[in-house]
Amino acid sequence: MRIGVINTDSGKAVALELGDRWIDASRAWKDYHTHVEGADAPPLAHAGDFAAAGWMNRSGYRRLTEFVQRHGRLEEYLLPGPHTFAAPVRPGKVIAIGRNYAKHAKEMGNEIPDEPMFFNKLPDTIIGPGEAIVKESWAGRVDFEGEIAVMIGVQGRNIAEAEAKEHVAGYTLLNDISARDLQNKDKDRGHPWTRAKNMDTFCPVGPVVVFRDALSWPFEEDIETRVNSEVRQQGNTQQFLFPIPRLIAHVSRYFTLYPGDLIATGTPEGVGPLNGGDVVEVASPGIGVLSNPVVEV
Ligand code: ZN
Repeated sequence: MRIGVINTDSGKAVALELGDRWIDASRAWKDYHTHVEGADAPPLAHAGDFAAAGWMNRSGYRRLTEFVQRHGRLEEYLLPGPHTFAAPVRPGKVIAIGRNYAKHAKEMGNEIPDEPMFFNKLPDTIIGPGEAIVKESWAGRVDFEGEIAVMIGVQGRNIAEAEAKEHVAGYTLLNDISARDLQNKDKDRGHPWTRAKNMDTFCPVGPVVVFRDALSWPFEEDIETRVNSEVRQQGNTQQFLFPIPRLIAHVSRYFTLYPGDLIATGTPEGVGPLNGGDVVEVASPGIGVLSNPVVEV
């Protein structure tokens, strides 16, 4: 069960995976609401909208895919390939966890934190699979940081760890691109990391969001980052210093979490620089491969 946004001749379509094919969920969504509910469909522009409507679970998936198949009209809803995907979600906010793998904290010369530490990624950092990460030549070293991101499905504040699962809609991949020289300069001065983490295009997301119900809980997945096909980072979510329920409980003490919001769960050791012409891939077996070229300007 995966949801994405596919570029079509007539614009972007939210798409649901059915077997090895993708159906036009945007169209099915409208038709379902017209024919079954007799009402206007709520907006559906990305996976966050699907979650906000309460559909990002096994029963929502089944309702829509069965509607498409029930009328023997599956062919009408299929999106012909080959597909190119856009960012699967337009998050209201992205909270990125720093130092959630002990070895990465060490390689950056940091202590193991005693509580999760985090920063944010601004909306204009978001790009989809295949879109270029823009490296400004004056910005100095720019690094990849492959991460798994949790997409929130149900609004909440002060969420208890035991309740966290119900607030998770699914998982995607995220590359927390970081202007390392600027970050180090600002760290030395005791300034926030905002500019280093938030230049335009500094947050590739995708290729799709996998439903929580499709993977294990507690969530156990490998993650790998490759640059020009060479493996640079490898980790597993079992190595997290703070597991997902703890992250959700901690972050939601400060902020209300809304459907579509992302929590980037931190990066394993092995971060390194990107140069113009590189292709960086973040991969996880249960989710897919997020691939982005780098252009230097
Ligand atoms: Zn990061």
